[in-house]
Amino acid sequence: MISSHRDSRPWQGETVGDARTPRVDYDPNCYLCPGNARVSGKRNPDYRGVFAFDNDHPCVGPDAPHPDTLPTEPYQVLRADGVSRVVCYSPRHDRSLAELPHHEIVALLEELQRQFRELSARPEVRHVLMFENKGEVVGVSNPHPHCQIYATNFVFRTIELEAEASAAYLAANERVLFQDIIAAEDADGRRVLASSGSALAFVPYFARYAYETFVAPRATHPSIAELSPAELDDLAAVLGETLVRMDNLWRMPFPYVMAFHQAPVDGAPHPGFHFHIEIHTPLRKPGLLKYLAGPEIGGGNFLNDTAPEDKAAELRGTSTTHYRANPVIPREARDPDRPDRGPST
Ligand SMILES: [Zn+2]
Ligand SMILES: [Zn+2]
Repeated sequence: MISSHRDSRPWQGETVGDARTPRVDYDPNCYLCPGNARVSGKRNPDYRGVFAFDNDHPCVGPDAPHPDTLPTEPYQVLRADGVSRVVCYSPRHDRSLAELPHHEIVALLEELQRQFRELSARPEVRHVLMFENKGEVVGVSNPHPHCQIYATNFVFRTIELEAEASAAYLAANERVLFQDIIAAEDADGRRVLASSGSALAFVPYFARYAYETFVAPRATHPSIAELSPAELDDLAAVLGETLVRMDNLWRMPFPYVMAFHQAPVDGAPHPGFHFHIEIHTPLRKPGLLKYLAGPEIGGGNFLNDTAPEDKAAELRGTSTTHYRANPVIPREARDPDRPDRGPST
């Protein structure tokens, strides 16, 4: 449901503070910085590039206990088998993904390819979810750039739904659903944010959140592991441009949940599944959260207060050079009374 006519209604509720931007490239108290000790007592190596390790507080893991009590019907229980990993993007504490040079984003995506291949080959793993939570409004207190991997013995619900829809659409139309989505976005053009060679980014027609953005290769692949080096390079370019535009929109680190949607690896065929990245921010404006309420929590559908075409135009109006790379900040961009008027250069 799109209700963009309500976007300007007065807000008298709670607002959230802007995320703090770290200014030091090394923080002795950060458990992700090179050489520092983690809670488990293990010490990070003096890593120079991408660094992956098993999560010290895993949500799922090979040492998960067996459930000590079996539930009453109709409930079911499953041991939390699998692997949880953390992937640090960079040794630099103060560099977000948006600020990494292109070759470092490529190196990260190459590491995620390796991770997918390794984890999906494990017999207990049925799905590999890769995601980054960024910013205090999505509950992340450590700004060190990193993402997480949950390789689970079950398939996450959204992926299951996408796999079912992709297979059903292919059977009914003999076309890949995501290819038709890309064709529709290209044909309209108003919601496309970036396009470079074999990859593109767009605010989908069906966006649930303001600034919800999909980043994807144009060719259909079940996971990131199947992308060629050239496709990975294009994907890194489009992802980098998208995140720079998001940071530039309000000249602040753009908080988001970014998830890599990949086909299940449960042994079943998943025809028509098209690997893509989804980026969701809970902010409607600087300091103003999108609340999940009656329609979303109560009814299970999203009410979007903004028109996807307007939000895409805002993002397209930003610079492709990150604002922190440019020390000259226009005065009006820093005026807290006009926080939603970012410069459009
Ligand atoms: Zn750090
Ligand atoms: Zn998806």
